[in-house]
Amino acid sequence: MAGIDASKEGSGRQRRVAVMLPYPLGPYDYTVPADLDLVDGDYVGVPLGPREVLGVVWGEARGDVALSKVKPVAEVFPTPPMPEIHRRFIEWVAAYTLSPPGAVLRMSLTAPKALAPPVPSIAYRRNDSLPDVMLTPARRRVLEALEERGTGSAPELAEAAGCGVTVVRAMADAGSLTVVQVPPRYPASAFDRPGDLPTLSPDQTAAADALKAKLTQGYSTTLLDGVTGAGKTEVYFEAIAANIAAGRQSLVLLPEIALSAQLLDRFAKRFGAMPAVWHSDVGPAARRMAWRGVAEGATKVVVGARSALFLPYPNLGLIVVDEEHEAAFKQEDGVIYHARDMAVARAHLGGFPIVLVSATPSLETVVNAETGRYDRLYLPARHAGAELPKIGLIDMRREKLPARQFISPTLARAVAETLAAGEQVMLFLNRRGYAPLTLCRACGHRMQCPNCTAWLVEHRFQGLLRCHHCDHAEPIPANCPQCDNEGTFAPCGPGVERISDEVTDLFPDARVSLLASDTVHRAFGGGPGAMQEAIRQVRDHEIDIVIGTQIIAKGHHFPMLTLVGVIDADLGLNGGDLRASERTYQLLHQVAGRAGREERPGRVLLQTYMPEHRVMQALADDRRDAFLAVEAEERRAAGMPPYARLAALIVSGSDAGAVGETARMLARQAPRGDGIVVLGPAPAPLAMLRGLHRERLLLKARRDVPVQKLIAEWLTRVAVPNHVRVQVDIDPYSFL
Ligand code: ADP
Ligand code: ZN
Repeated sequence: MAGIDASKEGSGRQRRVAVMLPYPLGPYDYTVPADLDLVDGDYVGVPLGPREVLGVVWGEARGDVALSKVKPVAEVFPTPPMPEIHRRFIEWVAAYTLSPPGAVLRMSLTAPKALAPPVPSIAYRRNDSLPDVMLTPARRRVLEALEERGTGSAPELAEAAGCGVTVVRAMADAGSLTVVQVPPRYPASAFDRPGDLPTLSPDQTAAADALKAKLTQGYSTTLLDGVTGAGKTEVYFEAIAANIAAGRQSLVLLPEIALSAQLLDRFAKRFGAMPAVWHSDVGPAARRMAWRGVAEGATKVVVGARSALFLPYPNLGLIVVDEEHEAAFKQEDGVIYHARDMAVARAHLGGFPIVLVSATPSLETVVNAETGRYDRLYLPARHAGAELPKIGLIDMRREKLPARQFISPTLARAVAETLAAGEQVMLFLNRRGYAPLTLCRACGHRMQCPNCTAWLVEHRFQGLLRCHHCDHAEPIPANCPQCDNEGTFAPCGPGVERISDEVTDLFPDARVSLLASDTVHRAFGGGPGAMQEAIRQVRDHEIDIVIGTQIIAKGHHFPMLTLVGVIDADLGLNGGDLRASERTYQLLHQVAGRAGREERPGRVLLQTYMPEHRVMQALADDRRDAFLAVEAEERRAAGMPPYARLAALIVSGSDAGAVGETARMLARQAPRGDGIVVLGPAPAPLAMLRGLHRERLLLKARRDVPVQKLIAEWLTRVAVPNHVRVQVDIDPYSFL
């Protein structure tokens, strides 16, 4: 990036800089008041219309505005400037996703309060002039704790000395401690307490050594592959430890917040301190400290969701993407990006290693490993000889199922056996609510979302019908809105709430817990600890049967869990998703991996109407690589990713006519040429979403086609009306 050229305007003229604003416009030029000493990356307040807004100094002024119109920078914030590497990353993401750089910058400016220096906190220091006579044991331990650390806050000292904070405060009152102001401790800034180091197996040691060696070898992408429970987490922890020792920052990306609880516990045990945590549920104070800690370079480890990639790390040296195959890494609104792929780009820009971790890696990643673009490390066996669970198929065509029941007699028997053995059961169904469809038995009317092309899902415990695509929710009406009959509604199909009712009927004595994103918070009083508490109950065997959606499928380690039952294994296979088979395999394999993680062997039963489907066969026979090879061959034959590139254009607006017309104009102006196909326009499967009509076009291109350039040119050929929006989705994962 070009530096600021102060001399360009000649002496006597005022210096100008470009400032990037967190909006889809700009950068704009501003003049620099003589008393401000600005450098690239400085966070500044600048006037924009009547307001002052936050921006970042972004190199030389562009000089495209008359000097008389250029306004001065109002203030500069006392924060380390945004690192050059991070500004380049923002520009790279903007170019790749065809988003305005300001919109990408906005994702880095999500804790504006962190731009002011944090308030010093109160701590205590030993007052050396006082003799150590007449000390109680507790007071002596406080002094000993201070020997080691110099200063400490009352809670820190109390914890170290095993006494109450009142002891510490009383010592200050008595004059044996002096009150000092210390800068706040940023999260994950000091690892001064020893953690519990595991003894790695030879396979684990080899993988850990290979990763550690990469820390000093510049950019590399490594797939860390291996069965669930093989110790992949322990292995990448070793790489993080080495990276901390080298004084550099590490980032662990997780696909969803729910996964963080167990990982944080394990991290704290292994490292003797917590990482900084970053996701949308983190409260404002913790957010501020994490953002600033990262910006200052003090915070050494961040565990977070995809947005953690946009923190302004000055000294990042390692990224781990755990569960790299997860579709949740794709952000589907605003700037549409895939966090795993952007993380690889970030590592490449920064010249450091990135590790992609999964027991069921994505086809994209596997192909990259096979062609040698990525390295691969493999852990073949579960830790401590735990057996992988046996996966069995229940052919639902042959089960005699009473009406409105969803647990087959075969599965129910297995549950009963497991409970009798004093072990735990997990029942998995990837659908929230009570029933996915509510139908009037008198007239056939189906309850539909007023804003979306989607059925309303009954959430019986909340007494609501909810749309899973927008925020719409309404009470379950007493009468059918079409035929006005009363009491004629019938729920169709199961959600987890309905399974929970069935389980309670079948096993009235079992302790049951229902875990879905919308029920956990209600059942456990909300707040960030709700999920943690729910998980703890299962882990500590206070629960016999846990029923849940995908939030229980991944990452968790429940020692007594020996049976996993999947209510509807076919659920993800319908619909036109290019990755339907791959994803279903990944999800079911992941759920299956919850069973039998310790000494007691586990088993898994999949209820399916398609037992001969290749996904079910691959799961039952544990033939992942053969399955992936068939998938790969199909994609190659169909000219689909990873053997080709896709980009979607989604045209939306409240006026159906204008949306259709714009989509047709786009089709007429579509790029043509060798290795390029444009499909559509066609109404999106979600033809209506949040009250907007939607049409889709899909560009399919050979891998060597410069897709971004083609699309940018394409969009300039079409005048899109103001009330119509065209969103570009590079490498789409959702086809809705
Ligand atoms: P993965 O990430 O591959 O699913 P984990 O790292 O979660 O596997 O390991 C599974 C379980 O085995 C965890 O409880 C972990 O603490 C334990 N474990 C793995 N390797 C070791 C080891 N070398 N020493 C002690 N415990 C281990
Ligand atoms: Zn809706």
